[in-house]
Amino acid sequence: MTKSTSPQHASLADLVKGLGSGQFSSRELTDEYLASATDASHLNSFITLCPDEARAAADKADAERKRGAATHLLHGLPLAHKDIFCTAGVRTSCGSKMLENFIAPYDAAVVERLNAAGTIMLGKCNMDEFAMGSSNENSHFGPVLNPWDNTRVPGGSSGGSAAAVAAGLTPVATGTDTGGSIRQPASFCGVTGIKPTYGRVSRYGMIAFASSLDQGGVFARSADDAAKVLATMAGFDERDSTCAQQNTDALQQAAQQGLAVPKNSLTIGLPKEYFQDLNPALTQRLDEARSLLEAQGHTVVDVELPNTKFANPTYYVVAGAEASTNLSRYDGVRFGHRCDNPKDLQDLYTRSRTEGFGAEVKRRILTGTYALSVGYYDAYFLKAQKLRRLIQQDFLTAFDGGVDLLLAPVTPGPAFQLGNLTSDPVEMYQQDIFTVPASLAGLPAASIPCGFVDGLPIGMQLIAPHFEEVRLLELAHQYQTLTDWHQQQPPARTAGGNSQ
Ligand code: GLN
Repeated sequence: MTKSTSPQHASLADLVKGLGSGQFSSRELTDEYLASATDASHLNSFITLCPDEARAAADKADAERKRGAATHLLHGLPLAHKDIFCTAGVRTSCGSKMLENFIAPYDAAVVERLNAAGTIMLGKCNMDEFAMGSSNENSHFGPVLNPWDNTRVPGGSSGGSAAAVAAGLTPVATGTDTGGSIRQPASFCGVTGIKPTYGRVSRYGMIAFASSLDQGGVFARSADDAAKVLATMAGFDERDSTCAQQNTDALQQAAQQGLAVPKNSLTIGLPKEYFQDLNPALTQRLDEARSLLEAQGHTVVDVELPNTKFANPTYYVVAGAEASTNLSRYDGVRFGHRCDNPKDLQDLYTRSRTEGFGAEVKRRILTGTYALSVGYYDAYFLKAQKLRRLIQQDFLTAFDGGVDLLLAPVTPGPAFQLGNLTSDPVEMYQQDIFTVPASLAGLPAASIPCGFVDGLPIGMQLIAPHFEEVRLLELAHQYQTLTDWHQQQPPARTAGGNSQ
């Protein structure tokens, strides 16, 4: 393991400086990342690479810079998007056979904002089909390999984005998190990943899974890098009815000036339900993080979030129900996969959907439809909605009681072996127990690298009150000024475990 030395592993602040001073051009950076993405094609972290479009955009950015038109902080910076964000002219597959040939006629709001800032899209990252999964093994385009150990999963559903950032194939990448899909892969790949408050980032053009939970966010190599990208993505958009009319001034300031460390000492809550029967090595990593934060003058207190045990069943009912309605649009008529020679309309619907969706997506549609059906609605969907409120209330009570942030595990353990959980969906769902509660509550939450367990990186979770992303990122930044876990790099190629 080495510390970041190559320009390819430089911080965003350094890349911005290098572009500004002419140390390298956007085209040179773009070529370098494209070459490393091609070299690391065994990871399968990209579904689509866009070398021609990226080079053309980089040349345009360099020309703009020459004539003094590089006004945005991120101008000329290469990045990658999860293949769930619609990109005009470039295929958006959502990891599914259903959308294997889908080319959106417009850009998602996130893509639009980052394009307008002058960023360069290197390609579209692999993901679990329709963002359903915790290992990236549900992708129609094959699994992504974890750069730290190629026999292990990178996490999911944004596994391609996390692996690409970890392997240095892109400085940053976008992702989405419905129940943990940014935080869990960030933890497994040793990168910084933040899911902002629900409503912070527009969902316009982000293919819907569970609309009351879906939220776009960022993978980066540090909290400071993540802040710069998040500030560009965030903000009100009238095309998404749940996008918040919340100002982004603090985020913009953090992006421009670099993150500060917290001005005051914070009260950090440890939710006791998250630590019961936790993997001992992971418990130790979190204890070390806790001690380090206490040494900076922060106070750590125990808190209770008593409804935590209901979070996973609640999530899988709510997310499945919403998915079953959102995915009804893929009927073989308007867009997406259409079966050959349909006998009649019913046959067109049935065969197009049977052929186009993978097993996990079908499982969610079936269970979600069941939970919404007459006779079961009250017992499942309505009950889940009530539990969701109680789970949210637990968090609000903790924050009202004087807790500024929560510190918790992200995952029950480090990245597991490819193929290990694929035959047992319930076991796979158990991977999400620590990430779904904050999702149900709509809270901003991040995974910050905090060490290694069994030779594999692991993250700690920070959860903040609604719209307090800057508070969260400042604490993460302070931690990252004291540790170098976030700067560790995986070996170029692995055959098995990576020893420390
Ligand atoms: N692993 C969770 C699921 O399969 C979360 C997915 C996500 O956040 N998109 O639903």
